[in-house]
Amino acid sequence: MPHIDSSVKLDFKDVLLRPKRSTLKSRNEVDLTRSFSFRNSKQMYTGIPIIAANMDTIGTFEMARVLSKFSLFTAVHKHYSLKQWEEFASQNPDCIQAGNVVTGEMVEELILSGADIIKVGLGQGNLVLGGHWLPFINKHRWNMSLFLVFFSGSMCTTRTKTGVGYPQLSAVMECADAAHGLNGHIISDGGCSCPGDVAKAFGAGADFVMLGGMLAGHSESGGELIERNGKKYKLFYGMTSEVAMKKYGPAVTDYRASEGKTVEVPFKGGVQSTIQDILGGVRSTCTYVGAAKLKELSQRTTFIRVTQQANPIFSEES
Ligand code: 5GP
Repeated sequence: MPHIDSSVKLDFKDVLLRPKRSTLKSRNEVDLTRSFSFRNSKQMYTGIPIIAANMDTIGTFEMARVLSKFSLFTAVHKHYSLKQWEEFASQNPDCIQAGNVVTGEMVEELILSGADIIKVGLGQGNLVLGGHWLPFINKHRWNMSLFLVFFSGSMCTTRTKTGVGYPQLSAVMECADAAHGLNGHIISDGGCSCPGDVAKAFGAGADFVMLGGMLAGHSESGGELIERNGKKYKLFYGMTSEVAMKKYGPAVTDYRASEGKTVEVPFKGGVQSTIQDILGGVRSTCTYVGAAKLKELSQRTTFIRVTQQANPIFSEES
């Protein structure tokens, strides 16, 4: 008989962080940099652990150039040609991170089998590198990490198409617990719609937070620029949307449905101000809970369940 798990599973919108006693006087006092030594590869990482998603509308070379100035990194999408990569790598070898994807049920199993970082979200459509990349990857000593995929992205229609899903806050809390017990690391992938969600993901125990939609619609984002009635928009689509599948195949077939949306995002200009807004938000979170370093945020986190996280009087829903 099918089993019903009736324990409550929560999303970012279901909680807020409880303010705590803090001696921090300014956001300037907060250090968002983290250093990790990965369990299996022994590689080292230092930076602000926010990653631009490897979607062709987000993980572009242009995005990587701006984000690296803020010590953030970009999971560059796989649809550039080898020549484009060579050219980019010769100018910036330091800001590339590549990963391949597996789907699995147990974080522990993946870490024990050699994964350094597990990506947490629900769906599909990620970076899978073909064999012809291997000599290039070896030459540049890229860190090949193994990811578990559970997407809950803004462009994701997996929940409605398949009925499969897992609320992201609970997924992160449960997977971080499992991974950290073995000195592994996790990426919270997808589901962030505002800087507060990024802070909640770190508070829940994510070592890295991957963003798609929040970085869409900028000059550095990929996707066609559209002008209509004097307004500018940029196309943003899921990597398994019909648009992406038509572009790169495999096409939507009788047996494979699209699990991604396509939207026109109002054009927002350069991504720099969005990054500053996100980093400023997370710094403020740290001051409110008394965390001088991002590393301390999850230890200082108590979530409280809420029925609404913002006053909706001037929002579109009201
Ligand atoms: P967002 O930050 O927009 O909420 O989520 C970004 C994440 O959504 C990406 O990192 C990727 O894991 C996931 N994603 C991207 N395209 C698709 C898609 O077409 N379908 C699904 N299910 N997930 C996607």
